[in-house]
Amino acid sequence: MNEASKPGGAQGSGIQQYTGQPISRRKALAGLASLGGTGLVYGTGTRTASAASATNIVLLVGDGMGPNQIKSGRGLKAARAGRSGSTEPLQLDRHTYSGESTTTNESGGITDSAAAGTAISTGFKTRNGVIGGIIDSSGRFVPKETVLERAKKAGYKTGLVSTSTITDATPAAFGAHVADRSKQAEIARQYIEATGVDVLLGGGRRYFSSTLRDKAKSAGYTYVDTASKLSNLSGSGRTLGLFASSSLNSAVTRFNSSTTQPNMDLMIRKAMQRLGSGKSFLVVENEHIDTNAHSNDPAFTHDVLELDESGTRIALDSRGSETLVITTADHETGGLSFTSSPNFRVINNLKATGNTLRKRIASADGDETQIRAIVADGTGITDLTVLEMESLKANSGNIRKIVSNRAGYRWSTTKHTKTAVPRFATGPGASSLQGQSHLTGLSDVMRSVIS
Ligand SMILES: [Zn+2]
Repeated sequence: MNEASKPGGAQGSGIQQYTGQPISRRKALAGLASLGGTGLVYGTGTRTASAASATNIVLLVGDGMGPNQIKSGRGLKAARAGRSGSTEPLQLDRHTYSGESTTTNESGGITDSAAAGTAISTGFKTRNGVIGGIIDSSGRFVPKETVLERAKKAGYKTGLVSTSTITDATPAAFGAHVADRSKQAEIARQYIEATGVDVLLGGGRRYFSSTLRDKAKSAGYTYVDTASKLSNLSGSGRTLGLFASSSLNSAVTRFNSSTTQPNMDLMIRKAMQRLGSGKSFLVVENEHIDTNAHSNDPAFTHDVLELDESGTRIALDSRGSETLVITTADHETGGLSFTSSPNFRVINNLKATGNTLRKRIASADGDETQIRAIVADGTGITDLTVLEMESLKANSGNIRKIVSNRAGYRWSTTKHTKTAVPRFATGPGASSLQGQSHLTGLSDVMRSVIS
């Protein structure tokens, strides 16, 4: 399903992104323009008019969550309910409107999460690796206002939640400006000292020095580092929650081991509580759809469901009519497709990621009895074939191939693709996300409802 050759997959820049829209969509945009009169320039964040305003905005991003990642979530949900062979609607299917985003970067190439996140947050296409800005013709980094900063100026409390390091590219694109996404300590500094993001929950403790944590406390942040401490927080207020040195674990790992890391459900509920009852802007990212898809590991499917059951469900259930909720992705990862009859029971039986099992199998040092026990424990597979055993003894990482084959998952790459990603939206401005436009269109719509 690598759709690099799909017509319309690669888009030009700026206003051209809207060519090919249905007539009704173009009329809607024209209508918005006429409301404001002047100042409506797509992609620059200078829109001055809006048809409606949103008291709250919740943007849920499944990193790497393309159309087939979502389909696999529907299949796993059915398998979980004992209806294997069918699919089950997800929470994201409750949204009022849907459309899709093309994702290419500034040069029309395959995007990374930095360029994609920057497109969503600033309305500008940029180079891969660049956070919250563009590189101008003389090679200089030029920061651009993010939608989070816009919201903050308008009096919204702001929050970022991620199962990755909270300073990873996707959340960073909303709360920081750096030319290089790897500068995560600088991104952390900017969150606290420059942008003042009110609620930060995720991994990445290593990027917040004790000095920076002290500065955060002086600036009014409550600091927590375990799920139980997060759970015990009452009321609203600035919060810095860092629950792992690096990234948090994948859903399948967190759900099957004892851990001090919070799940998304707790992080999202607490983020909303700590943002308070006034205007708020919240970005929630599940990173591990992307991370696992990079190693062609079907375990990502549990992360799709976690984002859905926690993020989208809570956002939709707790929304007032003045809340814009968007569930979407920044790009697709893995070029995922399926055989004619995928078996999601295989996915439902997983209790560990392929990466965890790879290490465990390697430590068995070729002992077939141990390998069988490890595979049975982690995947529920108790009938490894001779060929599968040989393959595992040759390379323990092949456990991912075995699970993929048995589940009917096919991968075309270990990288990102240009496949357009689905987007789902409910609330003020949501109808503008029907049809297809570039990721930058998300920035336009969110800005249009901030007031
Ligand atoms: Zn990636």
